Amino acid sequence: MQKLIITCALTGGVPTKEMTPYVPITPKEIAESAYACYNAGASVVHLHARDKKGKPTSNPKVFEDIVTRIRAKCPELIINISTGGRGRKQEERGSALYLRPELASLTTGSVNFSNSAYVNPPQIIEMLAKQMLEYGIKPEIEIFDSSMLPNALDLVKRGLLKEPLYLNFIFGMKGATPAEVKYFQRYYEDKPVNCQWTVSGIGKSQLEMNLLSMYNNGHVRVGLEDNIYFDKGVLATNEMLVERIARLSREWGREIASPNEAREILGLKK
Ligand code: ZN
Repeated sequence: MQKLIITCALTGGVPTKEMTPYVPITPKEIAESAYACYNAGASVVHLHARDKKGKPTSNPKVFEDIVTRIRAKCPELIINISTGGRGRKQEERGSALYLRPELASLTTGSVNFSNSAYVNPPQIIEMLAKQMLEYGIKPEIEIFDSSMLPNALDLVKRGLLKEPLYLNFIFGMKGATPAEVKYFQRYYEDKPVNCQWTVSGIGKSQLEMNLLSMYNNGHVRVGLEDNIYFDKGVLATNEMLVERIARLSREWGREIASPNEAREILGLKK
């Protein structure tokens, strides 16, 4: 088994301080949470930015503040900037890519969530993919449903994505792919042989979907963006979620990748 890459999705666009006091919102809080996750075994942090009111923002200055703080505190850590659309204007979704994170998320299709549509028009996907190519950023392809993998392969054919791909299969989002083994199996069989892949589970499916990936030589994403609970009724911190999956993986016999080992596995430069 290859070493396990742990990504922590620290903030996301949805959790608020009312939902959990542990969600990092300000650049200072996000950088502190990133550092704690790094110490707990994460090699990648996936970042969203919030404005002064705590709402999702594409403001590049806020992203710059977060990235600068993280790079100063733990320069080894791999940064993944979200280009996700929730609460953000379509044309501004790539506005922080000039910061040249090593990874950035790219969703290759549209899907319904429980109370909204997550709209990724072809033009926006192409624009973001081109920007990532220009800046030398490796896209982390977010697969919310089964159309998104063939869409990504089509982008490869058209020269907008380069292989080997890095895929993030997201399970348990209401309206998208259910967190069930049969859907995992389907993605597992359909993915290109030379890709690297990670698994995210929303809400209480986080741990079980992470474990399924861990057993099958994939990687894992944890974090409050996807799940704010450690256990029923017990709120988590980001580092608690990282620590748990790192411990379970080590106990099971799979080692954890350091950021530099993760760079090698994902084929990142540096
Ligand atoms: Zn995200």
